[in-house]
Amino acid sequence: MAKSKYAKLQEKLTIKQKPAWNLFDEKQRKTIFSFCDKYKVFLNTAKTEREAAEGIIAMAKAKGFKDLDSFEKLKPGDLVFYNNKGKSVVLAIIGEDMEFNMTGSHIDCPRLDLKPKPFYEEGNLALLKTHYYGGIKKYHWYDVPLAIHGVVIDKDGKTKEIKIGEAEDDPVFVISDLLPHLGHKMEDKPVREAFEAETLNIIVGNMPIAKDEGVKDKIKLKILSILNEMYGITESDFISAEIEIVPVAKARDLGLDRSMIIGYGQDDRSCAFTTLKALFASENRKKTRIAAFYDKEEIGSVGNTGAASQLVERVVETMIKKVGSKKAVNEVISKSIVLSADVVAALDPTFAQVFEARNSAFIGNGVALEKYTGSGGKYGGSDANAEYVAFIARLLNDKGIQWQSSELGKVDEGGGGTIGYLLAKYGCDVLDVGIPVLGMHSPQEIASKVDIYSAFLTYKAFFEVK
Ligand code: MN
Ligand code: MN
Repeated sequence: MAKSKYAKLQEKLTIKQKPAWNLFDEKQRKTIFSFCDKYKVFLNTAKTEREAAEGIIAMAKAKGFKDLDSFEKLKPGDLVFYNNKGKSVVLAIIGEDMEFNMTGSHIDCPRLDLKPKPFYEEGNLALLKTHYYGGIKKYHWYDVPLAIHGVVIDKDGKTKEIKIGEAEDDPVFVISDLLPHLGHKMEDKPVREAFEAETLNIIVGNMPIAKDEGVKDKIKLKILSILNEMYGITESDFISAEIEIVPVAKARDLGLDRSMIIGYGQDDRSCAFTTLKALFASENRKKTRIAAFYDKEEIGSVGNTGAASQLVERVVETMIKKVGSKKAVNEVISKSIVLSADVVAALDPTFAQVFEARNSAFIGNGVALEKYTGSGGKYGGSDANAEYVAFIARLLNDKGIQWQSSELGKVDEGGGGTIGYLLAKYGCDVLDVGIPVLGMHSPQEIASKVDIYSAFLTYKAFFEVK
């Protein structure tokens, strides 16, 4: 049946969102699935920012990237990486112009960190005190198997890498929750008060080291002696350590149709992985291409490994010198274009009341363009120029990549930010473009495979802008 005049008018004048899956046939869906199989491997091997940085550098080296410091001079086509304290990374492909197309994602995730003096014994148990990192709902972390990842720097300055709970026959750890029989008063409390940070204590042992009556805290001592045997470390070494507690669960396919992925750390390793793969797959002789992978986004991008540390600025300055250019770094950055590659909140039908459905991202509708971030009256956010939003939208339309626009949720419900504003301060154009995620900041985040693949195509098209 021929379309009516008004059906045509509707098509011309109104926005129509449809599942991005519709764009891909059976064969292409296989490509999406195998892309996501590699993504799952990345999620499972990169559960901390250090592991992610190490993985990214290893993949870059395999593609021929070399340490920026090893170059005397740089020329177009050179592949460089900069390893910032093992926790943030910048990859760059030098172009004929120093003005660059850059993506910025982050590789830190909400989690529990061990306190500097975590060990204690109580109630016949050895336990570890934790201090949560980033925005978590504390109750997510009780009664789930946990793994211990991180580094301890011992008295001689030697690094001991710790990773327990990932191998099939490794022991795991847990935070026990109160039994419901005795939880009546707890259940009457607001959620924020019912789960206090000081109850996020991890069970690590129950067996005393010996009968010796002269020794105190024999269960704790047993645990310390095991750690000493394994790594040669003592209790005080944990003061100079970064030990992160993460869920044991592996990333897996979600749904009977296997259309989604469930796993820890997809905020923001989904964007880290897709920008990395896009950089590798892109071609652009003219423009310099940069993919930055930051630490500390979840606590405000602060510190010497966060986006506020001028990491990209320093790397660009070095690259400008090494290509023999006289350009000022600020000028180069101001003429560059940036995508802040971070996940966005997908509308959750179970909690639809906090979303504004007309402006929410939907899982499976493709990559999301978020013109602005921030909370309340856009406070603390980054607001992209309409011209730049139109430029990116046109780029995606021309390439046939499906995208959607998004806002975090209802204006008065909350808010959040990304690294966007930290680069926008140089005057370059920055837009937030990322993957819609359900259950963001939970130990089991959910993303659609088609959105992950759309993000890959988006970042690739962006790197190729001349
Ligand atoms: Mn994020
Ligand atoms: Mn986050």
